Amino acid sequence: MYINGQWINGTGSFPVTNPATGEVIGEVPDCGADEIDAAITAASEALKSWRQTTAYERASLLYRAWEIMLERKQALAELMTREQGKPLKASLNEVQYGADFLLWFAEEAKRVNGQTIPSARANQRFITQKVPVGVVGAITPWNYPISMITRKLAPALAAGCTLVLKPAEHTPLCARAMAEVFEAAGFPPGVINVISCLDPKPVGDAFCSDPRVKKLTFTGSTAVGKQLNAQAAAQMKRVSMELGGHAPAIVFPDADPVHAAKGLSLVKFLNTGQACISPNRIFVHEDQAEPFLAELTARAMRLKAGKGMEPGNSIGPLINEAALGKVDAQVQDALARGATLHAGGERLMDADLKGGCFYAPTVLSGVTPEMRIYREETFGPVAPVILYRDEDDLLAMANDTEYGLAAYVYSQNLATAFKAFEALEFGIVGVNDINPTSAAAPFGGMKHSGLGREGAQEGIEEYLETKLGGFAI
Ligand code: ADP
Repeated sequence: MYINGQWINGTGSFPVTNPATGEVIGEVPDCGADEIDAAITAASEALKSWRQTTAYERASLLYRAWEIMLERKQALAELMTREQGKPLKASLNEVQYGADFLLWFAEEAKRVNGQTIPSARANQRFITQKVPVGVVGAITPWNYPISMITRKLAPALAAGCTLVLKPAEHTPLCARAMAEVFEAAGFPPGVINVISCLDPKPVGDAFCSDPRVKKLTFTGSTAVGKQLNAQAAAQMKRVSMELGGHAPAIVFPDADPVHAAKGLSLVKFLNTGQACISPNRIFVHEDQAEPFLAELTARAMRLKAGKGMEPGNSIGPLINEAALGKVDAQVQDALARGATLHAGGERLMDADLKGGCFYAPTVLSGVTPEMRIYREETFGPVAPVILYRDEDDLLAMANDTEYGLAAYVYSQNLATAFKAFEALEFGIVGVNDINPTSAAAPFGGMKHSGLGREGAQEGIEEYLETKLGGFAI
């Protein structure tokens, strides 16, 4: 663990495994109450001087971290592939995406502007200043084990906050490697603290109850996010929540079904479907079912599952047995209730895949609201296709979920696309676009998918308070 600029061991330790093989690839310290307290103390002490640094000093450290991250790109990506399982090419893309946040917020640090506001009183002046919220507790997930760290840490640091990071227990080695990047960049001791633990609950509890922590930023499941949000409310803490999604993808009748199937297969099977913006309910007109399903099925069947370090493999393992069990249960439930299976639908048990949790890229059609997969977030390589006849209820069906993170639309008609963009109750809408993400663009969900936005100009606001000065002159 990295606390107050020191590398320390915990009271115990826990192993980290490669989900593609089941092999143990490392051992990390397991933090106890003392280390949690030490990390919060370090962040709280470091805040005193860090918040006084100029935006230019903070920007140059973030810029240096960006350079180091890119110098270490290959090594970071290889570590990610071993620890998380995704193909090396996807890991390289993620390291680049993660680094983008360091550069973006190095620049944004210098654009934290206040305002002067005219007053109705002749002898009064108003000004506002933006000030850092203070110590931040950050909790990150395993599916994007590096970019979810920089997406939180870069704006927090740029704003003048110090922090304690607790990464997911499945991917602490990536977090450790990122702590090494920040250390090498020269951030002062205590500004960034990284702790690892097998049981995340005591850390979540401490972040929510310790009055020195002023803000909680969390990416993970909706269930845990709601619980943490409720706990944080007791102390009126600021929160940012990036939670689950259940993205609809609407293929309007005027769209090219083959082009849409190509795009949706690329985004669906990315990260083996373990993404909160993965399309989970694909609405296709009955008249286009045949060409759409033929293309989607052919593409699903061409994908090769296997170890991420071997070139040509594009489907990695699911993170663990529980994840695989949930995906398979959703598929079996859909089949039992009348869905049609076009590809996959089973665990892959080839000799070279036995050590990992590999699930075949799966295509289902005839999915209906009675099926679990229609309502529950699917975190795996399953493309559920819902065939529609009537366009009238489409947008209402797409919105008929408690989630509101991402949605996708295929249409060649500008008015149709624009109306859909406006009607969809989702924070991110990709219109003929399967990659609506960038460090420069705001990422975040509506409804039960979260609170706040990450990246973009909005991203740094999450770590700032607005302070008003009223001056009688
Ligand atoms: P997932 O289903 O993606 O694993 P989780 O919400 O369980 O989602 O995990 C996301 C992150 O939240 C991880 O870092 C995990 O350790 C952490 N986490 C899970 N439960 C808690 C909790 N009760 N308190 C704090 N953090 C938690």
